[in-house]
Amino acid sequence: MKLYNTLTRTRDEFTTHEPGVCRMYTCGPTVYHFAHIGNLRTYIMEDVLEKYLRYTGLDVKRCMNITDVGHLTSDADTGEDKMLKGARREHKTVMEIARFYTDAFFADCKKLNIRIPDTVVPATSKIDDFIQMVEVLIEKGYAYLSGGNVYFDTSKLDNYYVFGNQEAEDLAVGVREGVEADEAKRSKTDFVLWFTKSKFEDQELKWESPWGLGYPGWHIECSAISVSALGEYLDLHCGGIDNAFPHHTNEIAQSEAYLGHPWCPQWFHVLHLNTTSGKMSKSSGEFLTVSLLEEKGYDPMVYRLFCLGSHYRKSLVFSWEGMDSTKTAYGKLVSRIAALDPDAKEATDPDAEKQTAQALRARFAEAMDNDLNTALAVTALYDVLKAKIGDRTKLALIGEFDSVLSLNLLEAAAKLREQNRAAEAAKKAADQTAELAVVCRSPEVDPETAAEVERLIRERADAKKAKNFADADAIREKLSAMGVTLKDGKNTVEWTKE
Ligand code: AMP
Ligand code: ZN
Repeated sequence: MKLYNTLTRTRDEFTTHEPGVCRMYTCGPTVYHFAHIGNLRTYIMEDVLEKYLRYTGLDVKRCMNITDVGHLTSDADTGEDKMLKGARREHKTVMEIARFYTDAFFADCKKLNIRIPDTVVPATSKIDDFIQMVEVLIEKGYAYLSGGNVYFDTSKLDNYYVFGNQEAEDLAVGVREGVEADEAKRSKTDFVLWFTKSKFEDQELKWESPWGLGYPGWHIECSAISVSALGEYLDLHCGGIDNAFPHHTNEIAQSEAYLGHPWCPQWFHVLHLNTTSGKMSKSSGEFLTVSLLEEKGYDPMVYRLFCLGSHYRKSLVFSWEGMDSTKTAYGKLVSRIAALDPDAKEATDPDAEKQTAQALRARFAEAMDNDLNTALAVTALYDVLKAKIGDRTKLALIGEFDSVLSLNLLEAAAKLREQNRAAEAAKKAADQTAELAVVCRSPEVDPETAAEVERLIRERADAKKAKNFADADAIREKLSAMGVTLKDGKNTVEWTKE
């Protein structure tokens, strides 16, 4: 598989340190607020990557941290503590906030079919490991004490800017945001490993350390958690593009200084989800959540498909129009899969069918091997639907590809098949009793709208029975304005909604 590597800035062949095993680390959420759908874009793409690596036969060992302490609003060790900010906003303790938003994050992941990594480590559970790593960095001469804090000394490295395309302006972080520069730093790229003195006198969570009562800098948690959970050699490290600098740059600096050898050769970064007015940001408080999408009538799978439809290395602009067309596409895809017969007869020519199935698999793998081209991998599903093979083989292939794409396709199709069966039965029963059956052919419509449509359809039928055609036509127009199309049968009205 070829995967773009932010470290080498080329698409490299993906290899692992230990054959057959992939050690994968993911920077987890800062749990001071709900994850927004931008954050979740990153987790969706990492999830697809993990599942595809498993699909190719690798034993993926994956770890993710939960940042529940120490992440300041500016990445330059300045600004407010994000957790403290969340706690103040909601009049709760930092740990209450952390627990609540960690659970909310997992609930969002579940809705979006994002597999929770095997090892999830809250930063507050590993403070001893962080202290031990900082002690070694001081011993080895890579860190110094100044103004009460411990700093990493970036001048000790030959190559600090490993993600070397940073503009000088980006490196002047902090200054740009109008925050005072930290006088205790020897160099502006040095960063805090452990705080004992900062402007937050009221920091809620503090721990004893050899340098006094304090708390860790943000970057140290990922280095220490990764080394303790996955060992000295990592194969793949992931995050959103904003993590590349300074967070990942600093992680590399710390980990390699600590270990004394190269640490992780492959870095996967997902570009941002933006709104038409700019970047979606958790700290500004203006963002979209999965729950909001659901409230507006979008199945979380529609958002997952929306994300898979574009390449992870391109910024993605969120729009409701885009969501609407993806909703239609998802509905159509599920309908086509539902039309396949799970009890179809076996193939007449199994060898030919096997060959076609292999060719379809190759098309899917080729797309994914090409720097995780999920949009093309999704089109492989349509290739399966169009192929000249039996329904059972089609369903098996769709299930196989969906073990990676995770769009709930077989489950949604089975549900639709069941609904169609029930509708057919209702239609038949209505024909026999001469009672009107109202049959919905747009299963994605929310129950409230469906009930309102059914009420109007019955009202129209009553008006027609009373030969009140003007009223009947007016109701039909009203429904049409709602995007509802009617198909009148003998004793049935079937309806669809765009
Ligand atoms: P945070 O909870 O802020 O630490 O971010 C969690 C993950 O979401 C990190 O990997 C970030 O790089 C990523 N991220 C933040 N903002 C966005 C965005 N607008 N689009 C995509 N990913 C993002
Ligand atoms: Zn991290």
